[in-house]
Amino acid sequence: MENVKCLIIGSGPAGYTAAIYTSRANLSPVLYEGIEPGGQLTTTTEIENFPGYPEGIGGTEMMADLRKQAERFGTDIRFGVITSCDLSSRPFKVVVDGEKEISAESIIVATGATARYLGLPSETKYRGMGVSACATCDGFFYRKKDVAVVGGGDTACEEATYLATLCRQVYLIVRKPFLRASKAMQERVFNTPNIKVMFEHNTVEVLGDEDGVTGALLRHTDGTETTIDIAGFFLAIGHHPNTELFAGQLELDSEGYIKVVPGTSKTNIEGVFAAGDVKDPHYRQAITAAGSGCIAALDCERFLLSQ
Ligand code: NDP
Repeated sequence: MENVKCLIIGSGPAGYTAAIYTSRANLSPVLYEGIEPGGQLTTTTEIENFPGYPEGIGGTEMMADLRKQAERFGTDIRFGVITSCDLSSRPFKVVVDGEKEISAESIIVATGATARYLGLPSETKYRGMGVSACATCDGFFYRKKDVAVVGGGDTACEEATYLATLCRQVYLIVRKPFLRASKAMQERVFNTPNIKVMFEHNTVEVLGDEDGVTGALLRHTDGTETTIDIAGFFLAIGHHPNTELFAGQLELDSEGYIKVVPGTSKTNIEGVFAAGDVKDPHYRQAITAAGSGCIAALDCERFLLSQ
C-alpha cells in the first residue's frame, strides 16, 4: 500500500495553499482534487476582493494559477475522489475512487462546501433541465429568457446581477422582507432595471414540461400565490459542508462543519487538520480559505516534526 506523509483532500484555495506550504516544507504532499477540481471558485465570475489582483481575476483562472504554484514546488496533484477513510489509528487509511487504498501519516481536509437546494420534488425533477445552483456555469443557456434566482445573500445578488446581463428579466425570490447581502451588492441589484426583487416570497413548486422548466409557483407570506413564467430557476441559498466522509470520526458542529481547536486547524484527531469552508460557517471567502490552508500546513508540519 502506498504511504504518504501528508495527504491533502480538496482543491480549492485552502487545499492548494496547504499544498504550496507543505511542498515547500518538503512534506511531499499528495493532493486529491475531488469531484469539482478547483472548487467553488471555478463557478464564480470575477473575484475582485482577493488581495494582489487590482483588476480582479476570473475564478477558474485563479485556481489554475494556484494549482500551477503548488505543482511548481512538487505537490503530487491527482484526479480522484476519496470515497472512505478510517481515522481510528495512524497511519490513517483512505480509499480513492472506491478502489485504491492509501495510508497517510497526516491529513489536511479541505473538502469545502456544496450548494443547498430547497428540497422540492419538482426542483429535483428539473435539475439540469432549467434548475441550477450555478448561474456562471449555466446562465449562458438562458440568454434573452426570463429566469429566477432564490436567495437574499451575496451569492444570490451576484448571480442575479450576472444573469441580468444575459437574460431579459430576472426575478430575485427572497423569503424575508430584506436582503441579507452586503450594501454594495444590494445597491447593484436595486440599480439593475431588469431585476425584480420579490420580497417575502417562497417557492411552492417549480413548474415544467418535458422540455424543462416553464415557471414557478410562489407564495407570499400573506398567502397570495403568484405564477412566474421562467425558463431557468437558480438556487443561491447557501451551502453545506462536505463532511459526510468524516461523520462519526471527526467532531462536527450542528450544521456539519468540522470543529477545530480555536485559532488552529487541529481537529479532535491528532494528525488530521481542517482548512477552508469545511470548517468555516462564517467567513467563507477565498482569502480566508487560503489563510486557513496556510495554518493547516504549518500545524501539519509541526505535528510531523514532533513524531
Ligand atoms: P448566505 O447564507 O449569506 O445567504 C443565503 C440566503 O439564502 C439568505 O438570504 C437566506 O435567507 C436564503 N435561504 C436559505 N435557505 C432558504 C430557503 N430554504 N428558501 C429561501 N431562501 C433561503 O449564503 P451566500 O451563499 O449568499 O453567501 C455565503 C457567504 O459568502 C457570505 O458570507 C457572503 O457574504 C459570502 N459571499 C461573498 C461574495 C463576495 O464578497 N463577492 C460573493 C458571494 C458570497 P435568510 O436571509 O432569510 O436566512
